[in-house]
Amino acid sequence: MKLDKNKLYPLALLRNFLSKENLLNVLHIRRKPRTLQMPITSKCNSKCVTCNVWMYHENVDIDPIKLKTLLKNPFFSKVRSVGVNGGELTLVKNFADVIDALFVLPKLKSLYLISNGLLPDKLFTLLKETKQKCDEKGIFLNICISVDGYAAVHESIRGIPNCFPKTKRILDEFKNNLELYAHGVTVGCTISQKNVAYLRQAEEFFRNYPFYVQYHLAVPNKRIHTFDCAERYNVLNDEYSRMLAEEFFYAKFWESKWTDRYAYFCQYYYLKNKGHGRLCGCQYKYRDVTIDENLKMYLCATASDELGDTNVEKISDILSGKRFCKLEKSVCQNCDTCIHYVYSTPTIKGWILFVKEFVKDIFDRSYKFGRVIK
Ligand code: SF4
Ligand code: SF4
Repeated sequence: MKLDKNKLYPLALLRNFLSKENLLNVLHIRRKPRTLQMPITSKCNSKCVTCNVWMYHENVDIDPIKLKTLLKNPFFSKVRSVGVNGGELTLVKNFADVIDALFVLPKLKSLYLISNGLLPDKLFTLLKETKQKCDEKGIFLNICISVDGYAAVHESIRGIPNCFPKTKRILDEFKNNLELYAHGVTVGCTISQKNVAYLRQAEEFFRNYPFYVQYHLAVPNKRIHTFDCAERYNVLNDEYSRMLAEEFFYAKFWESKWTDRYAYFCQYYYLKNKGHGRLCGCQYKYRDVTIDENLKMYLCATASDELGDTNVEKISDILSGKRFCKLEKSVCQNCDTCIHYVYSTPTIKGWILFVKEFVKDIFDRSYKFGRVIK
């Protein structure tokens, strides 16, 4: 008899819950980071309604020489994965040098880049060079293209007329010649008041491509200066949008691959509870960190204030732990209302609710089946 993976998935979640990593989180024990999030520039050529980076005109790129020196610090000796984003990375002058700086990380295994897809030719050149380097070093390279809707919906969110054909050109090229550019492609679709009513249309478009699509909610985020202006984009600030998003994630919870189901269930539950009740952990509380284009360190990008300037003289002070503890406490006050990084370990309450939803379905089906037999 063939085992149904969907039915075994709750056990995989339970195993995660009982893992050593999760136990250390529960005990609030800070470890060296395994993942770095790195917004490497504040430059951007888009004007997204879900982000205010472009309004600040800061125009700063990360300094690759200082970055290299910083990453040699033993604090980063266990980093396996780096997320490189912005702003927009095709606007970074010394992009190749920034990537070279990351290669000093002794355990680096994967790079995840995010682009808004507005400069296709620049992106293709930059990816070809980066892929060659990653191939030589055995590092997995993933590129994520942000697509927030089909055609006019995408353009109205970006605030850039006629930009959709450029993004489509990138997806078409990746579909035909991926081996030139990366080892993996994902599409990131950020859900806001502006596109929540058009998500099925976007899904139809995404079906033309073999890429994994990750749907996530636009949330208040200190790094992109949207922590205090959520009414403009957040679905929680408009009841109709909230209900549409809740329905969308509930459908996704049932339709998706078993590896995505818990993440969608978390988002559905969060929306149902009007923006409360995080059902998963977060590695940014006690392990991973964010480093921005000014080489300042944060716990997470969402709710953390800066931990300090990470120049080499100060890093030992930062790593002594005192400032971490203070920040952890202030960041954790926001975790219950945060729905970032949902691909994480379930909480015990989350696991029970998730299993309950499955069991309810089995009973519902048996009940209907019984009625048909009668
Ligand atoms: S979300 Fe990304 S692409 Fe859009 S304005 Fe912000 S940094 Fe630029
Ligand atoms: S506020 Fe959100 S992203 Fe930050 S540590 Fe808490 S759960 Fe993680």
